[in-house]
Amino acid sequence: MSSSSLGLGARARLEAIREVNTRTPKRFDPPTDENGERMRISEFFGMNTFNMRQMREKLPKEVYVKLVQTIEQGKKLDLEIANTVAHAIKEWALERGVTHFCHWFQPQTGLTAEKHDAFLDFDEEGHPMERFSGSQLIQSEPDASSFPSGGMRTTFEARGYTAWDPSSPVFIMDAPSSKTLCIPSVFISYHGDALDEKTALLRSMEVVGQSALELLHTIGVTGAKRVVPTVGLEQEYFLIDRAFASLRPDLMMAGRTLLGGQPPKGQQLEDHYFGSIPTRALSFMAECEYELYKLGVPVKTRHNEVAPSQFESAPIFEEANIATDHNQLVMEVLRKVAQRHNFQMILHEKPFAGVNGSGKHCNWSMAIIAGDPGVHGVNLLEPGKTPHQNLRFIVVLAAVLKGVFKHSGLLRSSVASSGNDHRLGANEAPPAIISVFLGDLLTRICDEIEKGNVKDMNVEKAMLSLGVSKLPEVSKDSTDRNRTSPFAFTGNKFEFRAVGSSASTAFPTTLLNAAIADGMNELNAAIKAKLASGKPMEAAALDAVRDAIIETKAIRFDGNGYSEDWVKEAAKRGLPNLRKTPEALEQITSAKSKELFKKTKIFSEGELVSRYHVRVERYVKNLAIEVDTMRQIVDTLVLPACYAYHGALASTVVSAKAAGVSAPQLDCLNKIGTLLGTLHEKRLLLENEFRKTESFAHEEEKARAFADGVSKAMSEVRDVCDSLEGIVADEYWPLPKYREMLFLS
Ligand code: ADP
Ligand code: MG
Repeated sequence: MSSSSLGLGARARLEAIREVNTRTPKRFDPPTDENGERMRISEFFGMNTFNMRQMREKLPKEVYVKLVQTIEQGKKLDLEIANTVAHAIKEWALERGVTHFCHWFQPQTGLTAEKHDAFLDFDEEGHPMERFSGSQLIQSEPDASSFPSGGMRTTFEARGYTAWDPSSPVFIMDAPSSKTLCIPSVFISYHGDALDEKTALLRSMEVVGQSALELLHTIGVTGAKRVVPTVGLEQEYFLIDRAFASLRPDLMMAGRTLLGGQPPKGQQLEDHYFGSIPTRALSFMAECEYELYKLGVPVKTRHNEVAPSQFESAPIFEEANIATDHNQLVMEVLRKVAQRHNFQMILHEKPFAGVNGSGKHCNWSMAIIAGDPGVHGVNLLEPGKTPHQNLRFIVVLAAVLKGVFKHSGLLRSSVASSGNDHRLGANEAPPAIISVFLGDLLTRICDEIEKGNVKDMNVEKAMLSLGVSKLPEVSKDSTDRNRTSPFAFTGNKFEFRAVGSSASTAFPTTLLNAAIADGMNELNAAIKAKLASGKPMEAAALDAVRDAIIETKAIRFDGNGYSEDWVKEAAKRGLPNLRKTPEALEQITSAKSKELFKKTKIFSEGELVSRYHVRVERYVKNLAIEVDTMRQIVDTLVLPACYAYHGALASTVVSAKAAGVSAPQLDCLNKIGTLLGTLHEKRLLLENEFRKTESFAHEEEKARAFADGVSKAMSEVRDVCDSLEGIVADEYWPLPKYREMLFLS
């Protein structure tokens, strides 16, 4: 058949293949200095940020000191100082060709938001000039009415304001045609409610930092002044050629493929992981990294991931709020630079069935960032060299166990989304059951403590008999890494692996901070109670640790988290297994969670409930978009292609019969006929299930219906479409196939 007789859709697909096959990779030339010499990364790192070092250089000393104090105390900057700081920032920005500024904030969409204003203003005589005042730096009033608020803010009181978060440096977004000064900000209603993701994150950092300080104080670690959670976010993503992606309405609308037959080869050969990075992807990565370095994002590692066309980028860890901001920048830069390289960058948790989905491992620890020389810079989850340091380590570990054990349902809810539902528990990513992996050595130590063998020993003896002198080895002990655990200890940090690749990590990190603050407070209280009853400090601490280890035993699991056995075992242990988003989200507003946030003041009850509503709503909207996209694909692409092929085959059967020859294609024709019948039936079923959701008044009911009936109907529609894809002649098929999208680039 000549290509001119093909349907337009099928022709477009074949042209896309040709286009992809003849692409010349876009080069990225690393930056050079005025002599044409290649610059080192250290020479341009942070060049587009106005960080503390530059502040110190550019600001009068007393202003700088006050600014630092404000940052450390998390207070609002007073206007006097703000004017001076704004002036310095403006001069710096204008020198770099910046024309506009914006408050850059994180509404509850999971993304960032910005509204640009020009520096342009007019002086008294009406002459144009550039102006940027202190009040413009510290506060702005975007129209808040169109951001999700989960019912916290009704549209008639739409006012909210953004306020500079001076703990995160301002930066220049350097687009080819325009440079904008971005001011990282929080977003708050006029009543002081957090309308964004970041306000609560900052509160939670304060809370868990304070809890850590108090706990440290109780166990005799003195000299620590400020403790913060540190976070390193490994970002996974897919790169698909734009020519293919633009022919897939599902990728463009829903971020994932809603159908697509399995290619003969997926990831079973395990040949992509850590393989040599394809030239096109490498040149894309180099450009991303250049953009990110300029923004001061310390991206460090890059590699192929498990699935074909899947990659990962990870930075060096930073304080949790900076890491969160930087991850937003990573996602944005990946997306923008991908377009320049004719790629579609895909962040969805499960863009392709049958190959691994993408996550965002949230590596979490806590560090003393201000303190006396002996403790300054200490990572609280780093096993130490002396018995006392190891006592500190074990106490913090026990506090983490307590927090995660008590709030495992809440932690599950923190990563719940329609995308992540396809990944968690799909035998490739951590299951929806939250458990903690500690590894052999730590497990043995926990067991020893549990037996009570070290109960009343002093710390030197206890650590000796626990074999804790070997503790520094846990950081090198990477052999027992368990990839199936959602929350794994990896040497000197925990790795929360259940976070979705497209998610803002603000919420999961906030809830993790809150849970662990609770664990620390409870452990602290337990130690203090034992001290009050006359026990010496070390014995009191070890004793409380022992209680914690016994209490939280159910949460520890080092086995295969993907196995069916674990699902059964976890049920026996009473661990929640919240498979789908609607049931997971209910944890946000559980009594236990309400109490946690009331105690810690990280969310007011109104804020908490709104978090729940925003997420339920988003889930419903995402699913509705998926259903709508699927309808369109089936009705306008799949069915027409099948009808056309069916018709063409039927004609050949008629001709063959007329000629009196045999027509073996009748077999195929019948198969297609049968499948088409099933597709009609399933398509109708989907329609009916979808209609049902519209009849519910409450979003919760809709969400549940989407999670059950609608999802099931969608997967049934998909199955038939995929069977049809496997039988309809290739040249009729309008949608780029998995084998093309995943293997051609
Ligand atoms: P992996 O084998 O899991 O890739 P890496 O050592 O490369 O382990 O670390 C992964 C991430 O963990 C990196 O982003 C790294 O910066 C981060 N990380 C390391 N130490 C800490 C810490 N103390 N706190 C938070 N994140 C950390
Ligand atoms: Mg990792």
